Parts: sequence; structure tokens; C-alpha cells
Amino acid sequence: MIYEKLLGTTFDCECGQRHEVSPRNLIYAEDALQRLPEFLHTCSSGTHVNLIADERTWSIAGRQAGQTLEQAGWRVSETMVPDAGHGTPVCDDTTYAWLCREVSRGDVAVAVGCGVINDLTKWYAFEHDLPYVVIPTAASMNGFTAANVAPTLKGMKSLVRAQAPQGVFAVPSILVSAPYELTSAGLGDVIAKPFSTADWLLNHLFLGEHYCGFCSRMINSLEPGYLDCPGDLKARRPEAIQALFEALLYSGIAMTMIGTSAPASGGEHLLSHTLDMMCAVDGGIHDLHGRQVGLGTLLCAGLYERILTIDIPECRALPGDIDEAFWGSVAENVKDQYQQKRPLLQLLSDKLTDGKTWQVFREAAGLQVRSAQVIKSCLQQAGAAHVFADIQCSRDRLRAAAGHMHEIRRRPTVVDLAWILGIFPDAIDVIIDEWLT
Ligand SMILES: [Zn+2]
Ligand SMILES: [Zn+2]
Repeated sequence: MIYEKLLGTTFDCECGQRHEVSPRNLIYAEDALQRLPEFLHTCSSGTHVNLIADERTWSIAGRQAGQTLEQAGWRVSETMVPDAGHGTPVCDDTTYAWLCREVSRGDVAVAVGCGVINDLTKWYAFEHDLPYVVIPTAASMNGFTAANVAPTLKGMKSLVRAQAPQGVFAVPSILVSAPYELTSAGLGDVIAKPFSTADWLLNHLFLGEHYCGFCSRMINSLEPGYLDCPGDLKARRPEAIQALFEALLYSGIAMTMIGTSAPASGGEHLLSHTLDMMCAVDGGIHDLHGRQVGLGTLLCAGLYERILTIDIPECRALPGDIDEAFWGSVAENVKDQYQQKRPLLQLLSDKLTDGKTWQVFREAAGLQVRSAQVIKSCLQQAGAAHVFADIQCSRDRLRAAAGHMHEIRRRPTVVDLAWILGIFPDAIDVIIDEWLT
């Protein structure tokens, strides 16, 4: 990986910012766990390590890591995060409070697992000023190397600043043999990234958000690794899993470099976050983050296709306030975020009529995103979720999520643009029928 030389460095970027790439070591090797004890000595002068896992990840890698560390002289504590109602742990305020009570602090924390376990450990380590490393057990999402966490706080999907790990210690055979729905979720998460970056461009060109061409090129350069060989991923060919995993790691690093989720989370992520929040309200079941993000990407691909054909944008009235009845117990928090976004939407709407900026955006975003057909065929060939039935969701529920997803975050995305331009709500049904059914 050509970007490996960035690890553990701080550098002055062409974008004018000084970027810190905090992970120092990304190990992808069969002997990764054997290399962990020595690396931990470079993270802390102490000798007490705390492994945070769940029942499944403990048996996959945690136990072996614990034994290896003990043999090397580390004192090992383990914290087993319990499953929540639907059979897996969740990353929310309740679980975090539980973790803070249960965990034996130690000198360094090691997350053994993926999304939830990694997020909880990262969050805990940041709040308690501990170095942390992660042992991934599947290539399922890109949060391994990110410096933020997306927990559910009081029912609201939120973004909390945390810290990136000092190292990632992945064993290829573990990732290759992980349940395939986790791997295909990783594809759904990563296939979104060029779209997230297009949304980032939107915020940059119209609203003055900082933008980094270096990060954008890095994200785009990872794309062939997963987009060009979905069949190899389905066949679990080691090279395909490795390419997917590296794309996940480096898209997480892009977020860490910028200090926000902008390079790797845009409108397509809002569909997943909204589905998660709907479950917090009504107790329903949601699917894996990346599987939902894959569908969100298809939806946004459908939106970009429509938006990029517009020569001269005509703005409709901004969408009204949030639908309080829909959001129920989390309405107040949703409203708070949306109120913060309203002035930005007004500004975006005003600036859209500036034809020159619109043409620059059209051209740049057009180079950035793929067609819905390309996304669909990649997800389909890879055996990843690509229709609403795949994510245990009814058409009505998906439609409700698509119609409310713009209400939950204060940062504008292509979904807001679709509302401002009058493409939403009419296109919701058309895109669902065309690409998500
Ligand atoms: Zn994601
Ligand atoms: Zn930069």
C-alpha cells in the first residue's frame, strides 16, 4: 500500500492543513497476534492490558491474544461486552456507562472485534486517556482507524470525538473466514466513500468547508480494489479481502487526517443512521451498518444521476420543519440538529443560482461518483445487500427512512440538495422501485 509511509507521521498537506496520521502500525499477517506484545510496549510503559471483546470475538481471537500477551509477561484483564436484545452488543450511552463501571482500566486497551466493540473501546480509551489498539475480526466497516465514534445517545445517532488506534493487528485467515455478511457489509460501507467525498465537495464549494484533494485522491485510488472484483470477494479470495480491508482502513485514516467524518460519511450514511434510530424509537430490528449503507449508496447514486443532469438549478422552497410525530421520543434531539442545518440550507439554496459554482460542482461530482447501475451490479455480484428485503426492512419502512433521513444531521448532503431542487420527495418511490426492490 503506497500510503503506508504516512503511518505515524504528521505532515503539511497541499490543502494547507497539517495532518496527523495517528495509527503507527497496520499489521496484516498470520503472525499478527504474536507481534502484539512487543508493540504494546511502545504504547505504554505499564504492563497491564485490558482486552475488550464479546463472546464470539473472544473465541475467534481474544483468547489467543490474551494467552500470547500473558506468555510475554503482560497482566491481562478481559471485559466481555454482553449482547443486547437482538443478539449483538450495541454502542450506546447505556452500554458505555456499563463499560465504565465494569472495565479494569489497565495501561492499554485492546479491542477484539469490529463495529461495536471497536467503537466502545475507542470511546473508553479516549475518555480515560489510554492508548488503544484493535484486533479486527472481520472486514465489516471502516471505523477501525477513524478517530470518531457513532454511538446512539438518548436514541439519537451521534458523532463523538475519540482517538484512532495506535495499531491494527489483523490476521488474514480470520478475516477471510469471517461470516460473509460481515465482509459484504464492509463492501457496502466502502462503496459509499466516493459519494461521501462528493457530498464533501458540495459543502466545500457552496458552504466553504475545508476540503483536501490529497484525501480525496487517496479515497478514489482505493476504489478499483473493491469495485473491480466483486466476484473474487464473494469467493473469499484472500487478495480481494485484503484489498477491501485496506480500503476500509485508509478511508478511516482519511477521516482521522481531516478530523471529521466528511471524507467517508455523507447522505448515503444517513439512510443507515435513520434506520438505526427508527429502531431505537419503535424497538424494531436494524441490519448491519455497512449493509444499510450499501442501500443508502444506491439511493444517493440515483439522486446524483438526476442532479448532475441539471443545467440551471431552480430551487424550491426549503423543506419544512421535522416530522415530530415520526421521531417520537427522539424528536427534540432531531429538531436541534435540523435547526442548526436550516441556515446552511438557505445559504446553499441562495448560492445554487450562481451558475459558475454549479458547473464546477457538476463536473467535479460527476467525476467522483459512479452510476447506480455500477453500484448495483457490484453489490449484486458480491452477494452483498442491495434490495430492501436483504436488510430485513419493508418497503414502507425504507420509504419512511428515505423521506426523513435529511432531518437527522446538521451537515448538508446530496439528500438536502435533492429536496431543495424538488427531486425529493417525488423521486423516492421511483428510485426505490428502480434500484432497491
Ligand atoms: Zn460507515
Ligand atoms: Zn490535506
